[in-house]
Amino acid sequence: MRLLVVEDEIKTGDYLHKGLSEAGFIVALARNGLDGHHLAMTESFDLIILDVMLPDVDGWRIVKALRDAGRDTPVLFLTARDSVDDRVKGLELGADDYLVKPFAFAELLARVRTLLRRGTGAAVAERIQVADLELDLPRRRAMRGGTRVNLTAKEFALLELLVRRRGEVLPRSLIASQVWDMNFDSDTNVIDVAIRRLRAKIDDPHPIKLIHTVRGMGYRLDIPDEP
Ligand code: CA
Repeated sequence: MRLLVVEDEIKTGDYLHKGLSEAGFIVALARNGLDGHHLAMTESFDLIILDVMLPDVDGWRIVKALRDAGRDTPVLFLTARDSVDDRVKGLELGADDYLVKPFAFAELLARVRTLLRRGTGAAVAERIQVADLELDLPRRRAMRGGTRVNLTAKEFALLELLVRRRGEVLPRSLIASQVWDMNFDSDTNVIDVAIRRLRAKIDDPHPIKLIHTVRGMGYRLDIPDEP
């Protein structure tokens, strides 16, 4: 799950980035309204956490632009002002929920999870299975052959991406941007190393290998073809 956080206060932004990353989300952080507006309009996120009071393009303008463009990404507003007018305005413009600062991180996380469940509806499973590999998405757990596999947050995010796009060849550049939120110019060796670690945990102990290298192209997860 990929989240966008738009927050101009350095400490709050860092805190949200760290906390949400530790909770297993892939987090893009925009530190001003202009960058936030640009990311919200050009990239795809599962949820946007939007500070209302931004010095340049405020949160209201961003949510209005999103909704005017027909984008229905769930939006959670962060507002410093506990005023009924502000809340009504935010919700009228198309925000899905709001939280008044200061807030407890546990409450933010609960709101985020509720919005994600609502946003994806019943169509998206909370468990995904490929052969005897099973992912429990809300709990961020992986099982292979009925045994729990201990993965780091990044390893789980990488596996989740591969499983969600089962059968597709995923270029390293796409993996880098989706899991590490970095560009292809960055050290792509990171991806090969992470895949090797993931394989050691997911595939090496089992006769059926699910993660495949597609030479010169990238990686693909699927049940291997019959010989
Ligand atoms: Ca602010």
